[in-house]
Order: sequence, then C-alpha cells, then structure tokens
Amino acid sequence: MARELLTARLERKECISDVAQCYHFVFVIDELVSFNFAAGQFVSAVAPDANGKQQTRAYSIASAPNGNRFELCVNRVEEGFFSNHLADLPDLPIGAEIQIHGPHGHFILHEPITDSILVATGTGVAPMRGYLQSLFPEGGSDRSNGKQIWLVYGTRYESDIYYHSEFEALAARQPNFHYLPTLSRAQENWTGLRGYVQEHVARIIEERAAQLGQPLPAPPPDPALPASELTFDIYAYICGLNEMVSGVRERLTALGWHRKQIVFERYD
Ligand SMILES: Cc1cc2nc3c(=O)[nH]c(=O)nc-3n(C[C@H](O)[C@H](O)[C@H](O)COP(=O)(O)OP(=O)(O)OC[C@H]3O[C@@H](n4cnc5c(N)ncnc54)[C@H](O)[C@@H]3O)c2cc1C
Repeated sequence: MARELLTARLERKECISDVAQCYHFVFVIDELVSFNFAAGQFVSAVAPDANGKQQTRAYSIASAPNGNRFELCVNRVEEGFFSNHLADLPDLPIGAEIQIHGPHGHFILHEPITDSILVATGTGVAPMRGYLQSLFPEGGSDRSNGKQIWLVYGTRYESDIYYHSEFEALAARQPNFHYLPTLSRAQENWTGLRGYVQEHVARIIEERAAQLGQPLPAPPPDPALPASELTFDIYAYICGLNEMVSGVRERLTALGWHRKQIVFERYD
C-alpha cells in the first residue's frame, strides 16, 4: 500500500561539525497544523536516485513535537546516496523540499518516566535530543518527575560531539540531568571522559546500585509475571551503529538487566 507522502520545506540548515560533515536541519510541513509524533520516532525520507529509482532512508527526529516543525541531524556517509542528498540541499534563501512519510518506530520513552540512561554515538544522539527537549522543555514544565537522566555520548574526537553546548547548558540548569560525553580518540588537552560508552554506562549502574543498596548483578524478575506486566525503575535507551548497540546490550545483560529494560535503535 502506498504511504501518504508529506512535503517538508527546509527552514534552516546548519553545519554543526565541519570535520564530521554533520548537518542540523529544521523542516516545516506546511500542509499540517501539527505533526504528531512521540520524541524518539523517525521519518522515512524518499527521493529518486540518479537512475530514477525511488530511495527511502530512515532519519530519527532530533526534536520534540513542536507544531508542524521537525528537526534532523544527518552526517554524510562516504559514497552514500541519501545522506549526501540531504547535506547538499541548497542553502536558504533558496530553500528546498523533501518528501517524507511517518512518523514511525517504537524508540520512545517508557511512561511513567523512570531513571533513564540514554546512550548514543554519532548521529544516534538525534532521538536523545528529542527526548531531552520533551523531558525538559525550555520555558515549559519539567516532565522528568525528578528522575535521574544520564546522557552517555560517545564520539571519537571533540569536534564531532554534536549539540555539545546545548547539553552542557541543560546539565547546568537541571540537576537531575547528567551529561557524559566520552571520546575514544581524545587529544591530550581533553579533560573529560575517555573510552567507550559501555564503561561509563556500567559505572553509572554500579554507583546507583551501591547508593540504593541493590545487588549486582540485578536479580531476575519473578518468572511468574508475564512480560507485559514487567516494570523497572530504570531503563536504557541506546541508539547508533549496531556494534555499539550490541556492546552496550551485552554489558547490561551481564549486570543482570532484563531485555525489556533495554530499548534500542540501530542505524545499520
Ligand atoms: C531507524 C533509523 C534512524 C536513522 N536515523 C539517522 C539519523 O538521525 N541521522 C543519520 O545520519 N542517519 C540515520 N540513519 C541512517 C540512515 O538511514 C542512512 O542509512 C544513512 O544516512 C546512510 O544512507 P545513504 O543513502 O547516504 O548511504 P547508502 O547509499 O545507503 O550506503 C552507502 C554505504 O555506507 C554504508 N552505511 C550505510 N549507513 C551507514 C551509516 N549510518 N554509517 C556508516 N556507514 C553507513 C553502507 O553499508 C554502504 O556501504 C538511521 C537509520 C535507521 C534505521
């Protein structure tokens, strides 16, 4: 069945990392008053390639619902068709339009909000930005219910930490938001965290368990309970390339986490 296509007009495009060739986009859907989605979902963008073949790629929405606007964060993939198509969209004031369908996907926050560890690498931070905007809306009422929210964000170099100053400002304003960027190939002058996201996620869990007096590995839930009834006081949301997602899932499983506590989105 053909999906209903929406036209999204480019309202703003900004290169947020020259080195990583990463772009932030703001689109408006003029035919809608409100584009309804849950933070963390994605849109499917559609365009014909050089041979006239229709290509479709998924892109996480990098913002919280906001009228008929949505934002994307996309980096160029070498030899890739769609990422370059988007990165090459003509800059304003000419503007450009793209075709999309959606929203799609189940990578959304559990309600009610619990303590949450958001784990991302690269543009996997896009849905996390959407979550954070929806939990801590600027000028709006806090939806985090005072729960602890960690963002563990891994990149190779300082130059490819996207939205760094935005997350720093949020952490300064919200005591229950903890921003942990970590670099796998840091320069000597980097004073922040180093290494892979898995290590820092494990440390958060160990410290939290010690504070709450909980055993590790966590004991399995009552097997008599059906999976649909299982609830947890902490969830992890992981987004990025498969290798990282698998690494974090393995680490969490070793710490006794249940698969239902681990929500993930893989980009490849
Ligand atoms: C649910 C979902 C959400 C996504 N959200 C985003 C997002 O917010 N931002 C974003 O930039 N991307 C996102 N992606 C990835 C995106 O859909 C494309 O795969 C990516 O832009 C590459 O497409 P392309 O047409 O440029 O490359 P293609 O022409 O499809 O591929 C070219 C080559 O690059 C390799 N490749 C494909 N994807 C990647 C990748 N992500 N990283 C490295 N190599 C790759 C392929 O194996 C191939 O060899 C998401 C993917 C999924 C499934």
